[in-house]
Amino acid sequence: MTDYPHLLAPLDLGFVTLKNRVLMGSMHTGLEETRDWNRVAEFYAERARGGVGLMVTGGIGPNLEGSVLPGASMMTSADDVKNHAVITDRVHRADGRIAMQILHAGRYAYGPKCVAPSPIKSPISPFAPAELDEDGIEKQIADIVNAAVLAQQAGYDGVEIMGSEGYFLNQFLVTHTNRRTDRWGGSYENRMRLPLEVVRRTRQAVGSDFIIIYRLSMIDLVPDGSTHDEVVQLAQAMEKAGATILNTGIGWHEARIPTIATSVPRAAFAWVTKKLMGKVGIPIITSNRINTPEVAEEVLATGCADMVSMARPMLADAHFVAKAAVGRGATIAPCIACNQACLDHTFSGKLTSCLVNPTACHETELVIGKAGRAKTVAIVGAGPAGLSTALTAAQRGHKVTLFDKADEIGGQLNMAKNVPGKEEFRGFVDWYATMLAEAGITVRLGTEAGADDLAGYDEIVIATGVLPRDPRIPGQDGPNVVNYIDVLRGRAAVGKRVAVIGAGGIGFDVSEFLVQEGVSPTLDLPEWMKEWGVTDPAEHRAGLAPDGPQPQAPARQVTLLQRKSEPLGKRLGKTTGWIHRAALRMKGVEFVGGVNYERIDETGLHISFGEARENPKLIEADTVVLCAGQVSERSLADALIARGIGCHVIGGADVAAELDAKRAIDQGTRLAAAM
Ligand code: NAP
Ligand code: SF4
Repeated sequence: MTDYPHLLAPLDLGFVTLKNRVLMGSMHTGLEETRDWNRVAEFYAERARGGVGLMVTGGIGPNLEGSVLPGASMMTSADDVKNHAVITDRVHRADGRIAMQILHAGRYAYGPKCVAPSPIKSPISPFAPAELDEDGIEKQIADIVNAAVLAQQAGYDGVEIMGSEGYFLNQFLVTHTNRRTDRWGGSYENRMRLPLEVVRRTRQAVGSDFIIIYRLSMIDLVPDGSTHDEVVQLAQAMEKAGATILNTGIGWHEARIPTIATSVPRAAFAWVTKKLMGKVGIPIITSNRINTPEVAEEVLATGCADMVSMARPMLADAHFVAKAAVGRGATIAPCIACNQACLDHTFSGKLTSCLVNPTACHETELVIGKAGRAKTVAIVGAGPAGLSTALTAAQRGHKVTLFDKADEIGGQLNMAKNVPGKEEFRGFVDWYATMLAEAGITVRLGTEAGADDLAGYDEIVIATGVLPRDPRIPGQDGPNVVNYIDVLRGRAAVGKRVAVIGAGGIGFDVSEFLVQEGVSPTLDLPEWMKEWGVTDPAEHRAGLAPDGPQPQAPARQVTLLQRKSEPLGKRLGKTTGWIHRAALRMKGVEFVGGVNYERIDETGLHISFGEARENPKLIEADTVVLCAGQVSERSLADALIARGIGCHVIGGADVAAELDAKRAIDQGTRLAAAM
C-alpha cells in the first residue's frame, strides 16, 4: 500500500491513460534555444525515467510575433518537426508522455513586432503591441492551430495551449487588455471567442485522440481581471470546444502578488482550482507551490483537483515520482522555491538549472558517474558547499568524512531557515541529513579539524565558509550592537527600534526576521492572503481584495541602510527582489541609501551623506545590527598550504563576495564530479 494513493492513481483520458496524477508543468529552461536536441531530449527523458505521468515542454512560439523573445523556439516548419521528434522519441522510449506548450505571448512578447487585442503596453515590457485587425486575428489562430498540427506530427502526445498568466489568449478575455468593440471584444461572449476558436479549431485539426490541455487563468490578480463566474463559463465552453484537460494558471506576470516564490504558502492556490471541481466533466489540474508528495497527495485527497502540476520540483529531483512510489519520499531533493537557478536564470537570458540540483538541464554535461578509483575524501565544513561535495563524492563511490565544528550540519542554511518566508530551507537541511546517512558518509560534528586530522586523505576539501566582515564603525563594540548571526540564531536581544547596517540578502533577511512576530504568514494561508490582498474571486473580481494588502503591524521599527546610492535591494534575485522590497515596505521599513556610518552610541546610529559627509542625522535605535557582508574563513586552508598539503578550497572560503548557496552547491558538485 502506497502513502500516496491519489497521487499514484492512473488517469484515464478515454483514448490514453496517464500512469499517475503528476504533471510536470511547463518551464522555460532555455534548452530548446540551445538547439542541442540531444541535450533537450535527455532533460525530458530523465524526467520520464523518473516516473512523471505527463510532461509539458517550455513555451514554443507559433509564429515570430507571438514568440516570447526574438530567437525563441518556434514550431512552424518541417525542420522543427524533425528536431522535436528527437525529444518525443526519447521520451516515449523511456515510457513517458509529453505535450508541447504553445505559447503566444501577445503583448508580453519582448520584441517590437508584438501584437495584442488592443494597443496597451504592459507594465513589464518596453514594447507597445500593435492592435490586430480581423485578418491579423485569423492569422494568429491559424498559426496556433498549425503549431498543434506540427506538434502532433513530431510525435507529441498533446499540446498545452497557454491561456493564462496574462499571455495572448488571456489578454482577449479581460477588459484590462481588451478594449475592442468588434466581435472579439466587448461582451464576455465576444472576449472568449478567440481562446475558444483556438481550441475548437485545434481539436478539429488534430482529431479526437490527442491531448489538448487548456491552461486557464483561474485568478488573474490584476485589476479588471475575470470574475469566478466568467472562469466557470470559460471552463465549460472549453470543455465543449474540445479541451481534454484544464490546467490552472495563477496570476498574470504583471500582478504585484507573489504566486510561486518561497514565501508563498505551500499549495496556496489549490482552493482556487477546487472552486471549479464538479463544474466540468474533464479533469482539472492544480498548481503552484506544491513541492512534496505529501502536499500533492493532500491536495488530491481533499478534492482540490484531479491532477497536480509540479514544475520546479522536477528540476530539483527528476525522480520525484519514482522515489515517492517506492516509499522513499524523504530522499526527494526538495525544491525550495528560491527561483535562484531557474526563473532568475531564465529572466537573465541564462540556461536554467537548479540550486539544489546543479545537474538539472546539464544532464549531458555534468554526469555523476562512478569514479575510476575509490578515494578517501576529507571535507571540512558542512555548509552547502561541503554538503554537496560530500554527497556527490559518496555517490561516486568515494569514502567521505565530513567535519564541522558546529554540532549540526547546514552552515548558513540554518540561519536562512529561521527567516520568515524561508521555511523551505528546513526541509532542505533535513534532506541533506537523510542523504548523508544513506550515502554512508562519516559525519564528525563538533569537531574542529586541524591540519593533523587531515593527513593521509587522498583529497582534502576546505569548505569552511565565511566570517562576518568587520565594518570598523566607531562604537560598534557597544552593548547595543549585534551581528546578523546572533540575531538569526535567536541569541541576541533586539529592541523595538532597529538600524540594520548593510542591505544585501542578509540585511533584507534580518529585517524580515525583525518585523515579523508570531507565526510566519507563509505557514498561515489566511494571514498570507490578507497580507497580500488576495481574496475569493467569487467575491471580488480577479481575486483582489478591495482594501488591498493588510499586513500585520510590524513587530519593530526598522531602518535598513547601505552606503551605495543605488536603490536598496537592487541586486536581490531578479524574480524575487521585488517581493522582498514590497514585503519590507508594507511593514514600514525605512530604506536609506548613500550613507556614511559616522558612529554608534547609546542613542543609535549617526550617519551622514555623500563624499562631503553632509546632512548629519541620527537614526534613533535601541539596537544596531551589522549585516555588512562577509569575508572568507581561510585559516585552515592557509595552514595546509603553508605545510605544502594540497587541498581544494570551495564555497565562501574560496570567494566570499555575494556568496550564495547556488554557487556553493554548484562548485561542490562539480568538484566532486571531477574527483
Ligand atoms: P552582500 O550581498 O555582499 O551585502 C553586504 C552588504 O553590506 C551590502 O549592503 C554592502 O552595501 C554592505 N557593506 C559591505 N561592506 C561594508 C562595510 N565595510 N561597512 C558597512 N557596510 C558594508 O552580503 P550579504 O548580505 O552578507 O549576503 C551574502 C550573500 O548571501 C548574498 O549573495 C545573498 O544573496 C546571500 N544570502 C544569504 C543568506 C544566508 O542566510 N546565508 C540569506 C540571504 C542572502 P554597501 O557597500 O553599499 O554599504
Ligand atoms: Fe526550486 Fe530553487 Fe531549484 Fe528553482 S532553483 S527549481 S526554485 S530549488
